[in-house]
Amino acid sequence: MLSFFGRQTFAKATAPLGKALVKTGLTPDTMTLIGTAATIVAAVTLFPSGHLFWGTMVIWLFVMFDMLDGAMARARGGGTKYGAVLDATCDRVADGAIFAGLAWWAVYHEHSKQLFVATLIVLVTSQVISYAKARAEASGLSADGGIIERPDRLVIVLVGAGLTGIGGHWGIGWLTWAVYVAMWVLAVLSTVTVFQRVLAVRNSPGARTVIPPAPQQQAGETAS
Ligand code: MG
Repeated sequence: MLSFFGRQTFAKATAPLGKALVKTGLTPDTMTLIGTAATIVAAVTLFPSGHLFWGTMVIWLFVMFDMLDGAMARARGGGTKYGAVLDATCDRVADGAIFAGLAWWAVYHEHSKQLFVATLIVLVTSQVISYAKARAEASGLSADGGIIERPDRLVIVLVGAGLTGIGGHWGIGWLTWAVYVAMWVLAVLSTVTVFQRVLAVRNSPGARTVIPPAPQQQAGETAS
């Protein structure tokens, strides 16, 4: 959703910062690793200990930090294939840490089985959404689009967690429900997105072409 109109604007806005960072000698891959490591640390310490507002702030900062790797790669005249794979892999790890941190909080802080279930659904679907696309592309097909892509997911979870953090700190009862709403909205829409991606693959040109089995391959040896 967001990436549809936000990517170009974001690329333009971060270009000067990308150039400045390249001059410091940092590489885009280093940025990816620092941003991811910091996001993980914040997600698995601040969220489980109930610091939802500060967790949100720190994660937001480092997620933005990690997004600068693209701007740096452009400032250097382009990125590498390794950089792209590293970036995508680190995004999955960071998402995993964010939802794992929230799941922990849901169980041990909120004692809410419902919130735990919603968070687990999002944890799994967020990985499957990106895997479906990557696997489709590995087969020369496309699985673009869907309602929830990573920027949408991050905005929804962080706005929800941030508002709940504010509600808890200032004693605004109704605001503490924000993360519950955010996680259920994400759980439903991410599940829809999984279906959308699989359908997109199904409708991709060549998707239903029968692949003849390789002659030497034994039954049961097919790749997973
Ligand atoms: Mg990145």
